[in-house]
Amino acid sequence: MVGTALIYQKDFLASTNRAKVVEDIQYRFFDLIVVGGGITGAGIALDATARGLKTLLVEKKDFASGTSSKSTKLIHGGLRYLKQFDFQLVKETGTERATVHKLAPHLVVPEKMLLPIVKGGTYGKWASSLGLKVYDLLAGVSKSDARKMLSAEETFEKEPLLDQSDLLGGGYYAEYRTDDARLTIEVIKRAVKLGAVAVNYLEVKDFLYKDNLVAGIKCIDHQSEKEFAIHSKSVVSATGPWVDKLRAINKSLNGKRLHLTKGVHLVVEKEKLPVQQSLYFDVPDGRMIFAIPRGNKTYFGTTDTDYKEDIDNVSCDKKDADYLINAVNETLPSVDIKVEDIESTWAGLRPLIHSEGKSASELSRKDEIFESPNGLISIAGGKLTGYRKMSERVVDLVLEKLSIENKECTTDKIDLCDKSFGDFEEVLNYKEQLATKLGDFERSAVIADKFVHLYGYDCDNIVNRYEAIKSEKSDIEEALLEAELEHCLSTEMIQTPLDFFERRSGKLFFDIQSVTKNKDFVLNKMKECLSWNTEVANRYKSELEEAIKLATKFV
Ligand code: FAD
Repeated sequence: MVGTALIYQKDFLASTNRAKVVEDIQYRFFDLIVVGGGITGAGIALDATARGLKTLLVEKKDFASGTSSKSTKLIHGGLRYLKQFDFQLVKETGTERATVHKLAPHLVVPEKMLLPIVKGGTYGKWASSLGLKVYDLLAGVSKSDARKMLSAEETFEKEPLLDQSDLLGGGYYAEYRTDDARLTIEVIKRAVKLGAVAVNYLEVKDFLYKDNLVAGIKCIDHQSEKEFAIHSKSVVSATGPWVDKLRAINKSLNGKRLHLTKGVHLVVEKEKLPVQQSLYFDVPDGRMIFAIPRGNKTYFGTTDTDYKEDIDNVSCDKKDADYLINAVNETLPSVDIKVEDIESTWAGLRPLIHSEGKSASELSRKDEIFESPNGLISIAGGKLTGYRKMSERVVDLVLEKLSIENKECTTDKIDLCDKSFGDFEEVLNYKEQLATKLGDFERSAVIADKFVHLYGYDCDNIVNRYEAIKSEKSDIEEALLEAELEHCLSTEMIQTPLDFFERRSGKLFFDIQSVTKNKDFVLNKMKECLSWNTEVANRYKSELEEAIKLATKFV
């Protein structure tokens, strides 16, 4: 038996230690097994561990490979839910924005949103003004951040891409942007730091039962293809779009069901859609879409269409792309995006709760907990933004079921990184320091900006590695990439090049050129580090090439 004594808790997420961790958990008995390594599962694992439960989180692919890397990447209250009179949801998610920002100021970044008010649009002038006021009030937004109503001229000045002849005014209000996959991995890292175990590529195939109650999981390790069981006192399924699949395996798929809707986003060079700040605007068919600047790119979306196809293979098709491109081109007269301008795309599924007679966009985004008679607890619905409160409700229930005294939830005070920023000002200062530290080359400020928003103070670790490598390299950016890769290998359990390119560094979506340029380098480096044979390396090479195709070509 490989005991945990052989691995320090801090090294539990080292990519090279994964096999040992997998062996170890087979001999342990957990209080709680969380199935699903998206933001919901991550949040539950953190909260449960902080409240003293011995917790294991298992994820069938990579952490955040489901919906939690495919969102609009906003930490927002959801202005449009006011239209559905979902005040409770708006209040909770609106309030959570500031909390999650405080926990990771480099990753949940303040972002002003411009809501243009146009003739015949979704929101009239007075409704917008009142709606945004209520939005701020529900969320307890500070006076300095309160919404401002703008005249047509002021709105056009803020965003000259808008159709001036159509403009009645605008609302300018506070939101936050994030990187969903990185938020998920940081929550997981924090849970592991506090004592949880988290393993990717471990799929739950069935449950163990004792006296007709769920008592663990039967799973398969996709890295070794070995099957085994793990025992626990309780199991929570936080499997997002897969919740009903697990409920069916548990023979408890009764009553309410999921209603999956697909949402896609497209990425272009910033010069193709040079928005001055984030924009939330009406499109001709009455829907609303976002355009969000991120570094030298802009992404826009999202769609909201019923989805009944394969939930393990969701992609952006030509129809989705045409819809969004037309919507943007028709609304912003000087913009002329062509399908060839799309550099990358992603598509994800919203695991919403079905409500008879309601269309995709009318369905509530509220979360819901299902308890099966044999003890499986499932959670679905909700938003990335509300993950902490959703987790709190689930952990409260787990403690109640286990008859354990309910310790107070403290995740609002647990910073998400080892070394955390006091406030956003400190993030900005650190960016400058990092750019100086990286040296005087053309893109040092751009790279510092990207790195700090992805890795926070962990950039120190990346830069130390870079310092050690750079003398052997002629290409500075390759040395930085190698340092970034080494960091992810040592602390973030990446198992494939795609884990690195998509979920840890975000390059698949926001720097596709770097993926095509460096894919062989990353593959070879990982092959060496993780001792892959040629067959395994070829498999991961094909997987990466397939993902590049999926992100760049429409079916
Ligand atoms: P997921 O992230 O899907 O995680 C479930 C995980 O379970 C998956 O990783 C899956 O692989 C794993 N799993 C499944 N079956 C098994 C098994 N048998 N064994 C082990 N693991 C398994 N919210 C916001 O707050 N802001 C936004 O801007 C926003 N935009 C959105 C835009 C779109 C297009 C969509 C689709 C959603 C958006 N959301 C947004 C909602 C938000 O993204 C989701 O609510 C959230 O990511 C769901 O997280 P989850 O952990 O519940 O599900």
